[in-house]
Amino acid sequence: MYIPEDVNLILTELKNKGYNAYLVGGCVRDAIMGNIPNDYDITTSALPNEIQKVFENRKTLDVGIKHGTITVFTDAGRQVEVTTYRTDGEYKDNRHPENVTFVNNIEADLSRRDFTVNALAYNHQDGFVDIFGGKQDIENKIIRCVGDPDTRFNEDALRILRGLRFASTLNFNIENNTAESIKNNAELLQNVSVERLFIELKKMLVGENFANISKEFSQVMIIVLPELLQSAGDVNLSFERVSAFKNDFINQFALLFCNGNDNDVVLAEQCLRRLNSDKKTIRFVKELLNALINFDAELSVKHIINKLGYENAERYFKLKVYLDVENSKNFENSLAILFQIRDNNECVFIEDMAIGGKDLIDVGISANKNMGEVLNHLFEMVLNDEIPNEKDALISAALEYKKIS
Ligand code: ATP
Ligand code: MG
Repeated sequence: MYIPEDVNLILTELKNKGYNAYLVGGCVRDAIMGNIPNDYDITTSALPNEIQKVFENRKTLDVGIKHGTITVFTDAGRQVEVTTYRTDGEYKDNRHPENVTFVNNIEADLSRRDFTVNALAYNHQDGFVDIFGGKQDIENKIIRCVGDPDTRFNEDALRILRGLRFASTLNFNIENNTAESIKNNAELLQNVSVERLFIELKKMLVGENFANISKEFSQVMIIVLPELLQSAGDVNLSFERVSAFKNDFINQFALLFCNGNDNDVVLAEQCLRRLNSDKKTIRFVKELLNALINFDAELSVKHIINKLGYENAERYFKLKVYLDVENSKNFENSLAILFQIRDNNECVFIEDMAIGGKDLIDVGISANKNMGEVLNHLFEMVLNDEIPNEKDALISAALEYKKIS
């Protein structure tokens, strides 16, 4: 398995001081699958203070020290989490272990991990440590709990949603016992904080297998998104639609609630607020749903950009291409026009106009005579492509307007 040099040096430094150390978890899983890991975790026999001693000449952070984790900076400036082999103590409230216990063997550490595909360790000397058949499960594309699923989901209910998330993003199936237990224990998710649910939901929505997984485990999805039950549309259809927009959470979220009536906006907002979403996401989702319900078919691309901004206008056209099948060619065309307008830096906001109030005063249109009205009139003409956004043309149009108004 490939290990970047700067990360391998961290393993070597631990080994040189007499400790065992392995890469572990998601990075091993991703590397086996040929994906580039987001981050590297190391598990080691060294105790936290021993880890600090080994890396006394490196920059480290000790915010996770209570759970045995020291963050170590590699020569490439990468942060690697180095954690002492540990097991989790009693769990309280289906989420947090009461305490952790440091142990001296990797097998015990791997046993506390959630799924077999995440319970793999590797270093160049020893190769893989794979006591739960994780490699085989990766090959067969299977998510399976380490140990008894009911016990594991009762310890930490977030694992239920992590399981669905991995099945969605890795495009895996969930093994039968694990799947049944997820369904039986779905209610436990009520005990998980909305922040954690929201993080998992975002990761899950972009997954390749989202439609299948969310349909199969719709009762879990309803616990995370109870507002869907009040929505007018067919929930499974919403899940399928969401799968069509993998890389944009805002479009995906809008699609969950997109049934063409004003209630869409209310429910989507209610749901996002409950999940403690950031304000920007709430605003974008609301504006998009509102546009889908209320925008006039005759509205020009420039007007739409003006109303929504570039970012959301792009989303709007992409949604229209998908939802409005009969007119999808037109909306593809609108999208191309949007890119052209953006590349050419054309005037779509009043601030983009080639003149301002001062230019009008200079040609004798006095400041107290409703300057705003004149500027708005000129801007409307530019937006309608009736005149170019050029100083001379705008001044002439302003003088003309003053004559007739
Ligand atoms: P990602 O691609 O999101 O980083 P990951 O598998 O690396 O996925 P992390 O949350 O970074 O997930 O956790 C690293 C490892 O820690 C996991 O692979 C797993 O072995 C273990 N782990 C994380 N969360 C849990 C949990 N709730 N229960 C048990 N083990 C967990
Ligand atoms: Mg990770």
